[in-house]
Amino acid sequence: MNSDNITLVDLAKAVANDEFVYFYQPQVSMVTGTLSGAEALIRWKKSDTELISPIHFIPLAESSGFIKEITISMISKLIRDMVIINDLNPALTVSFNASAKDFSSPLLVDTIEQAARDHQVNIASLRIELTESVILESDEHTAGNLKRLEELGVGLEMDDFGTGFSSLDMLGQLPFSAVKLDQGIISRMRTSGKNRTIALSSIRMAHSLGMDIVAEGIESRDSYVFLQNAGCTTGQGYWISRPLPLDKYLAFSSKERHWPALRLGLFHMAQLDHIQWRKALMESVFFRSFSEGERSSVDPIIAANDHDHTTCRLGKWYYGQKLEYAGNSLFDALEEPHRRLHEIGR
Ligand code: C2E
Ligand code: CA
Ligand code: CA
Repeated sequence: MNSDNITLVDLAKAVANDEFVYFYQPQVSMVTGTLSGAEALIRWKKSDTELISPIHFIPLAESSGFIKEITISMISKLIRDMVIINDLNPALTVSFNASAKDFSSPLLVDTIEQAARDHQVNIASLRIELTESVILESDEHTAGNLKRLEELGVGLEMDDFGTGFSSLDMLGQLPFSAVKLDQGIISRMRTSGKNRTIALSSIRMAHSLGMDIVAEGIESRDSYVFLQNAGCTTGQGYWISRPLPLDKYLAFSSKERHWPALRLGLFHMAQLDHIQWRKALMESVFFRSFSEGERSSVDPIIAANDHDHTTCRLGKWYYGQKLEYAGNSLFDALEEPHRRLHEIGR
């Protein structure tokens, strides 16, 4: 069966017969090098031997609006699966894909809220991935329903970041806590320096907005290490694992596994933050001395950075590594100029 011969009647029967299931694709924290969670990806299990990919039925479901029925029927399964996953490891997150139409009524958010109220799930483990269609097709209820999710503590991730026309603009419009770099950007990184610059700039920008950065479509160790050095925080892709049925995902999670955990990527980000902070500080001093009484437009940048040298991003990285690198002369030499810079800032 493929996209050409699937009808809405088929989809309605599949919901009625409970034929949709989630597969879970593992995600790894690039900071610690351990499993951090999974993305739930829908599959249509027509029989024990026939598994239909979402690319054959999600477009029809979305364009017809039937996706709402599918999502609502799946959310209770997701919650059931999450209970099992979090029983094994409470730290594992689960993210699922939602469409614009899922937010035109309060039903989805109500269902999630009820599950949280009944303590069925730890709401902090739940993430929702949204594409820009949520903005482009939003109605007057969408923003309110998404706001409720944010208030519940559900993380919102912008999926396929870097593909659409309005991605950048959207980041400012909805309460996203993370972006998911599109796999196209990641696969094109290999082909030219220009594409690598696009990937690096997207990561840098999301980081400046204080967001986590998930990279998907990682198919090799080289891509993993490149993205890690660039400052991505979470990785997903065939190199780590293909999407797995729940029992296989549970087996995968229960094994002790480690992926590269190089912290230099975040260090690089912290350094850039500092350069920006130092520049803002100097601009602020300059601006104040020349325009007495007026407020500097760069103040918010400074305000956003703590004057405490142990809690700024570089400080967090530095003091977090202290045990590991203490005694290394280059590492120790970083402390004094960093502390002095903060004193001057104060
Ligand atoms: P997506 O959200 O961008 O999901 C990532 C897709 O990339 C998945 O395809 C995944 O299997 C695939 N993938 C993961 N790692 C790699 C890799 O290393 N290399 C390559 N080439 N591909 C990789 P899948 O499962 O076929 O899903 C396709 C799309 O269907 C998803 O794209 C998402 O937009 C949609 N979708 C899946 N499940 C749901 C759902 O429950 N609800 C809705 N509304 N959409 C869904
Ligand atoms: Ca997704
Ligand atoms: Ca995606």
